[in-house]
Amino acid sequence: EGDSADFDSETKSICPFCGVGCQVSIKVKDGKVRNVDGINGPSNEGRLCVKGRFGFDYIHHGHRLTKPLIRREDAPEKGLNVDPGNPLTHFREASWDEALAKAAEGLVDLRSYYGGKTVAGFGSAKCTNEEAYLFQKLIRQGFQHNNVDHCTRLCHASSVAALMENVGSGAVTASFNEIENADVAIVIGANPTENHPVAATFFKQFAKRGGDLIIMDPRGQALGRHARSMLQFRPGSDVAMLNAIMNVIVEEKLYDRQYVEGFTEGFFEFREHIRAFTPERMAEQCGIAPDILRDVARRFAGAQRGMIFWGMGISQHVHGTDNSRCLISLALLCGHVGRPGTGLHPLRGQNNVQGASDAGLIPQVMPDYQSVTDPEVRELFRHIWKGTQINAAPGLTVVEIIDAMYRGEIKGLYVLGENPAMSDPDVEHARASLAKLDHLVVQDIFLTETAMFADVVLPAAAFPEKRGTVTNTNRQVQMGRRAVQAPGEAREDWRIIVDLARRIGLDWDYDGPRGVFDEMKMSMRSLHHITWKRLEAEDSVTYPCSGPDDPGQSVVFGDGFPRRAGRAKFTPARVTPPAELPDENFPMVLTTGRQLEHWHTGSMTRRASVLDAVEPEANCSLHPDTLRRIGVVPGGMIRLTTRRGTLTVMARADRAVAEDMVFLPFAYVEAAANILTNPALDPFGKIPEFKYAAVRVEKAEDT
Ligand code: SF4
Repeated sequence: EGDSADFDSETKSICPFCGVGCQVSIKVKDGKVRNVDGINGPSNEGRLCVKGRFGFDYIHHGHRLTKPLIRREDAPEKGLNVDPGNPLTHFREASWDEALAKAAEGLVDLRSYYGGKTVAGFGSAKCTNEEAYLFQKLIRQGFQHNNVDHCTRLCHASSVAALMENVGSGAVTASFNEIENADVAIVIGANPTENHPVAATFFKQFAKRGGDLIIMDPRGQALGRHARSMLQFRPGSDVAMLNAIMNVIVEEKLYDRQYVEGFTEGFFEFREHIRAFTPERMAEQCGIAPDILRDVARRFAGAQRGMIFWGMGISQHVHGTDNSRCLISLALLCGHVGRPGTGLHPLRGQNNVQGASDAGLIPQVMPDYQSVTDPEVRELFRHIWKGTQINAAPGLTVVEIIDAMYRGEIKGLYVLGENPAMSDPDVEHARASLAKLDHLVVQDIFLTETAMFADVVLPAAAFPEKRGTVTNTNRQVQMGRRAVQAPGEAREDWRIIVDLARRIGLDWDYDGPRGVFDEMKMSMRSLHHITWKRLEAEDSVTYPCSGPDDPGQSVVFGDGFPRRAGRAKFTPARVTPPAELPDENFPMVLTTGRQLEHWHTGSMTRRASVLDAVEPEANCSLHPDTLRRIGVVPGGMIRLTTRRGTLTVMARADRAVAEDMVFLPFAYVEAAANILTNPALDPFGKIPEFKYAAVRVEKAEDT
């Protein structure tokens, strides 16, 4: 702490962690971040959580990559066998020239010998919009296919699939701040207090002023204390519960008939479908009594203005798209879309997962979700990209690419800021796939678990060390600014991508993110009226934006949807069980997620001194009665085993966890949750079922 005179500089930028996109003021002294404060951004109004306030010192950690690295010829076999603080046991330092040449040569050789399809790319939701755009362009233009994806596949791909199908747009219909105008709000499969903490403060204020907050989650959570109802339903029974609620709304004729007739299609088929899902029939399956289901249905349908928020508890299932379809149908039935205080809001995870998706870091679509199968879209990009033919076949998704690597069909991979050696389901399989690659180029700020498998490692600037725009969960495009210089020879990602593109033969001529942003505007209607100059002056503009003075629309679709005849669609959802169910050998349910202090695979937050001091050790949570049953005291070690693997981890007692469940955070490499998780995919969103695996829980022998 201190006043401005104590610092050398003060820079406005964006928090690099979650999709809330809090605006921050970063104060720097002697080249180091000394203090971070919240400023009055549209999503945070001056607020920050512990990660934004105390989590920035990861950028000064001694493990930062400061020079390009090339794998040594005499390095041991590829694996998680490198000390990230001492990579020179396996790598040697190289000049940028040599490293870029080596990185490009390996990719070009594969393209020449086996075809461009044998090279894939994983981009990042942690980089800027401009970097995401350049990355997908490099893969599409340089290798003539669409095998490029990023972590949206692991978080909200199923939500986006359902929104695109039924609403015609993959983004939220209203900002989360609209909750201040709502009368009722459902938060389902999300734990905002831990994962979107600043959004959670707005939810608490809503409840405090008398708003009807309804939480639905198989695991209890802190926000439940502020809610009028907390429905702790059985894991995996989302569709049964939501269909029962909609059955009540339809059978009791509580739906908004005028809205349904004026703005939707498919209602009559939907009405027939939903008849079978009475609360009495669904109660046992979802574990919620019929009178509670009826009460919630009446309150949500009876309110003037209602919102629905959801997270990965909805999306990370083999029925994730069906879960989201139900939420969309529920909002449409009640006419809770398109007005202030109404809307559908999947809470996006990473700081730029919305922007990276918008920028086309998705194998089926070009920037702005324009399908690669549409000849007019391909023609548009052929024109903008100076004659490049766009491949008409949708590419492979993250998990499909990992499987293709394992089979030897994909032989080269360019990874920008992602960490599949930690983040993919059945991660031992993902690691084996990385080890099989002929050529792996990893661009990151630390020697991540994925970088340990690399042939070439390119050191990148961290978010507070670079310039560029990011788009948060509210569709707010915001300006990120450089507060400090990158260490050593680390470079901004856009520059590295451009240098690599040139070396694989692309005729690229960019001199900074501004020129990239201008090119993006040529194909992205979402950026109409949003200019670099405006973002520099105003810091944030919401899309869609109707004019140069419009701050953008917080609520959309009041006068129809971007679908045929302007109508949204009801898509009936059937009950599909989880891909594996508990049995004699694996009698409990494992679910995974984040903790307040730690972010995703932990590469940043476990190197942030305050955050790591608060949560230093891998842990899992079980109900106290479950711990008693297996003879383990809180703090003791337990062994978790699924069909894919085993790990040992410290146990915590937590009454919020049901007696037949285990909750395991996924940020800890020493007990990597994804050793255990199931890679089974939702057929539409191709998202793995991280939220449900059958597990055996035992006392670890040595405790
Ligand atoms: Fe950063 Fe999200 Fe916390 Fe805001 S809520 S400070 S964006 S981690």
